[in-house]
Amino acid sequence: MAYRSGRHFLQIPGPTNLPDRVLRAMNMPTIDHRGPEFGRMGLEIFEGLREMLQTRQPVVIYPASGTGAWEAALVNTLSPGDRVLMFETGQFAALWSKMATRLGLQVEVVATDWRRGVDPAMVEAKLKEDHTHAIRALCVVHNETSTGVTSRIGAVRAAIDAAGHPALFMVDTISSLACIDYRHDEWGVDVTIAGSQKGLMLPPGLSFNCVGEKALAASKSAKLPKSYWAWEEMLAANKSGFFPYTPATNLLYGLREALRMLREEGLQDVFARHARHAEATRRAVRAWGLEIVCAVPTEYSNSLTAVMTPQGHDADALRRIILDAYDMSLGTGLGRLAGKIFRIGHLGDFNDLALAGTLAGVEMGLTLANVPHEKGGVQAAMEYLAGCAEMKAGERRAA
Ligand SMILES: *Cc1c(COP(=O)(O)O)cnc(C)c1O
Repeated sequence: MAYRSGRHFLQIPGPTNLPDRVLRAMNMPTIDHRGPEFGRMGLEIFEGLREMLQTRQPVVIYPASGTGAWEAALVNTLSPGDRVLMFETGQFAALWSKMATRLGLQVEVVATDWRRGVDPAMVEAKLKEDHTHAIRALCVVHNETSTGVTSRIGAVRAAIDAAGHPALFMVDTISSLACIDYRHDEWGVDVTIAGSQKGLMLPPGLSFNCVGEKALAASKSAKLPKSYWAWEEMLAANKSGFFPYTPATNLLYGLREALRMLREEGLQDVFARHARHAEATRRAVRAWGLEIVCAVPTEYSNSLTAVMTPQGHDADALRRIILDAYDMSLGTGLGRLAGKIFRIGHLGDFNDLALAGTLAGVEMGLTLANVPHEKGGVQAAMEYLAGCAEMKAGERRAA
């Protein structure tokens, strides 16, 4: 294949573009994972992860993709035949519920049209119906990456409280952590699941469980078989910054660097940046005259935007043309949305000009692929971004 100059645009909603600082941090000799230098790194990383999750609870790190951390959350807390309530907000929620069923749990799945998040009123109703408190856990995906919909976790927590139900609350934040405001402690989440390759700007290969006290207590009597995923030995070793088995040392170098970068930028500014890029993207999509998958404006995702192609226009053909012409990868439609949508990832290591380039690639691609659309999407996004920059400059002058 011929050399393609310039950077590839990896605008899928994870894995995301790797910052040079993270790449350089990983390009180091592997050290003794039982030595003092490692222990110091471990402690810094655990503290940084707690900051990202807005929690004081411990965080377990697995050398696994996010799917492993899903399994860890379930096998540590539940027993065979336990009832679990899940909401099928999209492909990722569907896969998680499939896993729960395979593990021997009794899963009740609430269906949606894949265009909205978890309905807090439905959570309250379902839990209120459960007079005997047979439901042991409620599992929800914070940001449904297959549809670009963000569920309102604070409102779901309030619904659980309104029902007065003791179910464990587990939340998948794989594509929201370090992109969209997420508060493990304030929202009373029992297990948070996260992954390395999306907002954390790392390669795939690490995933996380943030473990609340109630979940830890449940793990003492949970009967699903667990060994590799068991929290107990992990948490004991982690106290001094170490791991019970060989950790993914070089990925941890990258994680330490990414956490430093996020701290330097400031978590609130990281959230604001993702919100700005998401809004600019939606303005572009509307100007093109295309439809956003998410049907509920208060649930628009700040990590990605999923866009429908007009009937009769294959979204994957459009993606292929954009990859060939502009060396940019966009997310494919998953599950029932295959061929019908494409997804623009605007999460991770990203800035205004990278977004402008991304949207320009989409707009030119729409023309090349003969997808009916209006011009002016990039223009609409640029006007919004310039307005944001002006406002920021004004704030700086006033300060
Ligand atoms: C990416 C993703 C997953 C799957 O994680 P893997 O690392 O591919 O195992 C699960 N849930 C959500 C919300 C995701 O975005």
